[in-house]
Amino acid sequence: MRSGIIFLSLFFLIVLQANAYTILLDPGHGGEDRGATRKITYKVNGKKRVKYYFEKDLVLPYARKIQEKLRKKKYTVHLTRSLDRTISLEKRAEIAEKVKADLFISIHMNSNFSSVSKGVETYYLDNHNDVAVKKVEEVENVGLAGGDLIVRQIITDLIVERTVKNSKNLALNIHYHLSKRVIKKFKMKDRKVRAGLFYVLALSKRPGVLLEVGFLSNSSDLKKILDPRFQDAYATAVVRGIDDYLKNKK
Ligand SMILES: [Zn+2]
Repeated sequence: MRSGIIFLSLFFLIVLQANAYTILLDPGHGGEDRGATRKITYKVNGKKRVKYYFEKDLVLPYARKIQEKLRKKKYTVHLTRSLDRTISLEKRAEIAEKVKADLFISIHMNSNFSSVSKGVETYYLDNHNDVAVKKVEEVENVGLAGGDLIVRQIITDLIVERTVKNSKNLALNIHYHLSKRVIKKFKMKDRKVRAGLFYVLALSKRPGVLLEVGFLSNSSDLKKILDPRFQDAYATAVVRGIDDYLKNKK
């Protein structure tokens, strides 16, 4: 009997430890910061109608689905925001500190002046010389509540050194599942894993990735982004990637 209790205690200890990780999901933008916008004009009974899609809204169902699936796997999951509200990049990092997040996952939608650009990208924090990536950074780095950019650059350098190996690994794990379950199945363009200097990742000071689900500026991508089946497949892929990364880390 006693050995049974010891065995049970050990079992629960192992089970609890197995999922003792805390993951912070960060739906990008919010409130005054709409992120990328897609305007669609169409006609109803000859009358012109306009519909707007905002990145800040579109990222929320992804965060909720990923949260739900991670919780099923007994991870502790927090969201930096679950509503449409303005929240600075610093505040997002503060939340990461407060909840003692092990991983930081920022969720975004891409956009380009050309409607031709499309596809799935997974970013981790690192220095690079990619001109195309610099454009994505410009958009995603909006939202700092002030402060000295040079100081931030130094912080970024130190954080890159500390987190780059784990973050890249996490990005590769997530993107592996995205390519298997999302990119092939939904015929998305694979824009691969990329390095980017995203302040929200640097400020969070922990391993993390920034997901660019697809391009709002591309009609084919937008249709998929809005499709609940695509959202579900995407969320499953991200969760499998996180799960694989954390299991391999042990
Ligand atoms: Zn964004």
